[in-house]
Amino acid sequence: MPDLIGRQQPSPRSTAAGSVGVVSENVSTQQTQRDQPAPSSRRKVVKSDEQWRAELDPAEYRVLRRAGTERAFTGEYTDTTQPGVYYCRACGAELFRSEQKFASHCGWPSFYAPSEQDNVTLHRDRSTFMERVEVRCGSCDSHLGHVFSGEGYATPTDDRFCINSVALRMEPLPAHPGS
Ligand SMILES: [Zn+2]
Repeated sequence: MPDLIGRQQPSPRSTAAGSVGVVSENVSTQQTQRDQPAPSSRRKVVKSDEQWRAELDPAEYRVLRRAGTERAFTGEYTDTTQPGVYYCRACGAELFRSEQKFASHCGWPSFYAPSEQDNVTLHRDRSTFMERVEVRCGSCDSHLGHVFSGEGYATPTDDRFCINSVALRMEPLPAHPGS
């Protein structure tokens, strides 16, 4: 009897608060059902390097497509507290919301969680002496920043999604007068 064919989804990501969980190439699936492929609402954006280079300005391209990092305390959203939605500057997908933004004082916009779990994907980054967890856009795979856990921030998760401003575009939300 042949084994069930390879649809292994060990769901490596723990969603427990306070833990970023295991990282792999693709942690964004949540397929538990049988045959019909999950109707992925997530639009995948695939473009050539030339296209990205043409569409993004050099600073955006360096961070988003070359995994660069903007200098601390220089990004336009570092201290932004205005209510709003943060979109991927490369593809326009929603990533974070101001509700999850907090003042980490680390020099980059910091969020304790994405607004939807699969807005981002997490990847091991061994590019420096210390292993970090890279955060990428779940739609276009552009580099956004890194996530750090267990640092002691008084947030619901104690995860710090440390994101480059230049990877984001914020659209303010209208204030709600009353309820
Ligand atoms: Zn994107």
